[in-house]
Amino acid sequence: MTAWDVPPRLALPAVAERAIAYLDSLATRHVGATASADELLRRLDRPLPEEGTPAARVLDELAEAVEPGLVASAGPRYFGFVAGGATPAALMADWMTSAWDQNAQVHATSPAAAAAEAVVARWIPELLGLPRGASVGLVTGCQMANFTALACARRAVLERTGWDLDRHGLFGAPPVTVLLSEAAHATVRSALQLLGFGTAQRREVEADAQGRLRHDALARALRELRGRPVIVSLQAGNVNTGAFEPFDAVADLVRGVNAWVHVDGAFGLWAAGSPTRRALLRGVDRADSWATDAHKWLNVPYDSGLVIVKDAAVHRRLKSRRCAYAGEPRGDRRDGSDFAPENSRRARAFVLYAVLREAGRAGIASLVDRCCDLARQFARDVGRAVPGARVLNDVVLNQVLVQVASPAEDRHDPAAFHEALAARLQADGACWIGGTTWRGEPALRVSICNAGTTAQDVAVAVDALARAVAGEVSERDAAGVAGSASREV
Ligand SMILES: *Cc1c(COP(=O)(O)O)cnc(C)c1O
Repeated sequence: MTAWDVPPRLALPAVAERAIAYLDSLATRHVGATASADELLRRLDRPLPEEGTPAARVLDELAEAVEPGLVASAGPRYFGFVAGGATPAALMADWMTSAWDQNAQVHATSPAAAAAEAVVARWIPELLGLPRGASVGLVTGCQMANFTALACARRAVLERTGWDLDRHGLFGAPPVTVLLSEAAHATVRSALQLLGFGTAQRREVEADAQGRLRHDALARALRELRGRPVIVSLQAGNVNTGAFEPFDAVADLVRGVNAWVHVDGAFGLWAAGSPTRRALLRGVDRADSWATDAHKWLNVPYDSGLVIVKDAAVHRRLKSRRCAYAGEPRGDRRDGSDFAPENSRRARAFVLYAVLREAGRAGIASLVDRCCDLARQFARDVGRAVPGARVLNDVVLNQVLVQVASPAEDRHDPAAFHEALAARLQADGACWIGGTTWRGEPALRVSICNAGTTAQDVAVAVDALARAVAGEVSERDAAGVAGSASREV
């Protein structure tokens, strides 16, 4: 038997068993990786094989080798970055998406994927309180969503000056200035870099103590740029504090200006799904484009992001060339790659369709509310249970920044102290919390966005932090553990 003709009925049940065993282990396993980078390489590295190996054995050996390098970021006690797990409905649909292996490029390559995408593209703006008729692109993540939206922004503001972008590109174009908060996410800056905007075309506007762009500073910048095309990039949910920018006030400020307002709402946009948190987003529907992730708070597997554009006609002009077999765009069918940078694409819509059907509006609302309530619980309990701990942010959403007073011997270097604290926590393995820098201050950052996290998990994490601060956690393997304190993302 060659590697290409393993009967699915023989091979796949073992895969399901293995996946189930892993998922079951998430509740109790050491959350972080326990093997060093060198150790993991040693386990996998070998010369490029000359001869093949039976698939079942390859899978067994692969799973065995990577096991100690896995991070249980899909589990309920992972509070690093902004992760989110994968619900069973999402996984089921994701497995089927791989089995079906559709190319969601255009209607012709998969009518089924195109239909699922059409439905999801209607549901998403409705769920997120965005304008009806806005177009939706399914992309790999929020980085690509920011990129796609800002490409639309670039086109719109330049064309309003009479510049033909498709013919002349950016060379000699009227200067466009991008205004963004100094606390904007790194991926917005990367998107701008990819789109041909240098740091000289970027104006970083002062942010307040919660990381919200200051309205008066933005007003001043806009006055100085009077008459020039501008892109204003806002944030719904600062990655450190969870704070939201003043969308309504910004929309008022740019009235009558050649401006495009973009919102990076990788996780924060989902607050719209909760009637009790929705007010944080007041005025967000007055923007021109939005970027968000499904693989974070919606708890679907990587990689899944969404770009939403108010003016669907601008979005559709993202790329002007189509493959010959795609034919001309037609109103009665959806060609997904018109709304995304990619050509051939994974059929991500099946997963989104399944998850939104399984959860319904009520499920999304309760997911958002539960995570926000647990963040408040964390903030409250950490102050009580951890000596010297102080919460640095207003906990309006699901993000909590904790700073711990350094003991006397570490007072000269609080950053190193927080890094060591994160390493101790990660070596302990009861939970995973990373480090960050907020307005020049070292801190630990806690993000609660896993559908399975409970009050008990939060209590375990607070307890683990108290132990780490007390130095009761062994630092034995801390040095070798892959990835300790994180600085960004
Ligand atoms: C995570 C995040 C991004 C980037 O999203 P990816 O899915 O990693 O590409 C952008 N903005 C914010 C606010 C984020 O939290």
